Amino acid sequence: MLRITDLPAFTDNYIWAIHDTQHAWVVDPGQAEPVQRWLASSGLKLRGILLTHHHGDHIGGVAALRVQSPGIEIIGPLTGRLAGTMPWLTQAVRDRDAVQLRPWGMTLQVLETPGHTLDHICYFTPGTANGTDLDSPALFCGDTLFAAGCGRLFEGSADQMWSSLSALATLPRTTRVFCAHEYTVANLRFAAHVEPHSARIAERLAASVDLRVQGRCTLPSTIEIELDTNPFLRAGSAAEFARRRALKDVFRA
Ligand SMILES: [Zn+2]
Repeated sequence: MLRITDLPAFTDNYIWAIHDTQHAWVVDPGQAEPVQRWLASSGLKLRGILLTHHHGDHIGGVAALRVQSPGIEIIGPLTGRLAGTMPWLTQAVRDRDAVQLRPWGMTLQVLETPGHTLDHICYFTPGTANGTDLDSPALFCGDTLFAAGCGRLFEGSADQMWSSLSALATLPRTTRVFCAHEYTVANLRFAAHVEPHSARIAERLAASVDLRVQGRCTLPSTIEIELDTNPFLRAGSAAEFARRRALKDVFRA
């Protein structure tokens, strides 16, 4: 029975753990300590790491986890290996590659999504249909797609990011979206600024504020919710996307 658990890191990162009662994989361990604490308290053995891009708050914990768990698999973008940012990858992947999570035999599909960085990839499963947390579609999207937002353009162009987000928008609407940051409330404030008459955005903002007041995680989202409330997915054109992205960079709620 596979489960997905959020491990908070730094001030607003999430390290997503895919696990059963014995084995675990983690996505983007920017810090080792939250993973090590959780492994120790739950008695799980780390089997592998999935990386979406080379930023320090996503890969910073890899070195310590490799030492603690020798022989684990470390999967990340081929472009990251070629750029020299991830020399320790045991498997370097590119668009449409299938990644197998051992020991379960389930696979995730790699989607290249340049924009936030040039090496950025996402991991998608259409679901395993065997009654687990992974029985329905799931997307681990790092810093490409956020709840009601998207990553800043550090390396790629607005056209690249628009194309990447447009591809994610075609995934099944039920796909659960596991992003790497808790930015939901700030993003929805910007969304409400862009679409002040959207009842869906206003409702989601109120619900997300409630969750955060209780100290709870606002994720995962779904592609359907993002199509309804994400101002970047809803931009309609690359030019409007670029305008909104630039506006968000200087927006203060
Ligand atoms: Zn990043």
